Amino acid sequence: MNQLQPVRGTHDLIGETARRHAHVVETARRIAATYGYEEWATPIFEDTRVFSRTLGDTSDVVTKEMYTFEDRGGDSLTLRPEGTAAICRALVTNGLTQTLPQRVFYQGPMFRYERPQKGRFRQFHQIGAELLGTAEPLLDAETIAMGYAILKELGLGDAVTLEINTLGDPESRAAWREALVAYFREHRDALSEESQNRLEANPLRILDSKSAQDRALLDDAPAFANYLNDESRRFWDALRRGLDMFGVAFVENPRIVRGLDYYSHTAFEFVTDKLGAQGTVLAGGRYEGLVAQMGGPVTPAIGWAGGIERLALLLDAPPEVKAGIAVVSTGGETMPAAVGVVQALRNAGLKAELELRGSLKKRMERIAKSGASYVVLLGDEELQRGNAQLRDLKLRAQREVPIADVPRLLADEV
Ligand code: ATP
Ligand code: MG
Repeated sequence: MNQLQPVRGTHDLIGETARRHAHVVETARRIAATYGYEEWATPIFEDTRVFSRTLGDTSDVVTKEMYTFEDRGGDSLTLRPEGTAAICRALVTNGLTQTLPQRVFYQGPMFRYERPQKGRFRQFHQIGAELLGTAEPLLDAETIAMGYAILKELGLGDAVTLEINTLGDPESRAAWREALVAYFREHRDALSEESQNRLEANPLRILDSKSAQDRALLDDAPAFANYLNDESRRFWDALRRGLDMFGVAFVENPRIVRGLDYYSHTAFEFVTDKLGAQGTVLAGGRYEGLVAQMGGPVTPAIGWAGGIERLALLLDAPPEVKAGIAVVSTGGETMPAAVGVVQALRNAGLKAELELRGSLKKRMERIAKSGASYVVLLGDEELQRGNAQLRDLKLRAQREVPIADVPRLLADEV
């Protein structure tokens, strides 16, 4: 039989790749906890409507990227392409819409049928945060500051730039949209074919177009800044003041519209020039209708998601594997004592392994190669005295110590 391969666009997390991945997750989880976020986990697959209702009929994710299938019972299910809609569904189905605000952290795999390339996969992983039930621009700034704190803690503070934009409220967007459509209609023939279709379905998406033809037209397109109503302008000003208060630097980028349809007011991306075309590492924005679409009350919220694979690629050095302690039984009768020692070390929170196979020489060679810092040797003679030999592999020094003291002695040193 041919050797089976992982499915295109998926990958195994093993060795250094796994360590980088875990480091991103653990760092994000730790920082998010300091901001009062609690971790939720929702199912990997949902009723297809959780996503089709919310992401918008014209978003790329819904029209082209979803892994949707009918299960054996005939229900239409979808492997989650993103986390936000599922968190909103969970807020409603767990009866939490009256217990707001909720600060939710999540992490895990997402699935999108995209063309695989560096930093772009079909199964990828995200860390994410949602602050549900607040409409304060200062808390948008705080949510963004938390994202930045995670990036800084990962050592990426200098590698990323925060770009922000406002998408205004629905009224402002409607006014701008009208002006945009009028402008694009006038220049219809100059638009790419894809954007000619977008013109009817979702003209805002044209702003996100990668086609050179479309981009040329954008320079003279009506600017959203001129269509913001008072309320939207107030929000936008307060967001930028808030970011100043939190000490997070930003640049304004009017092109940020975000790929999903549900955003309003705040939209932002942390970008890097170190990953080629896949430069966005953490992105999000404010939304309002999502919880209502799940059958709950209208609930203002702000959130973001970060791509773990992209963040892991950016990490300078892979997190190190902690050095361990090897335990070796060298006597005929000392195995029970060796098992006792290795378990006592583990109970003390230390990494320890029994080294069992081969001659003593072979075992010591293997231990040296493993990068262990200490070896505990249990021989018949020492055991009679209640002792073991403790060898420091770095200093190449050995001394006899009471077995009962081994965990305490090593806890101080390792
Ligand atoms: P992009 O413009 O790169 O397609 P997006 O707007 O579709 O991103 P979001 O839905 O906002 O991305 O997801 C948040 C983050 O998740 C992205 O900034 C990126 O880091 C990561 N991400 C999104 N899609 C993928 C993918 N297919 N493979 C790896 N990471 C991804
Ligand atoms: Mg995308």
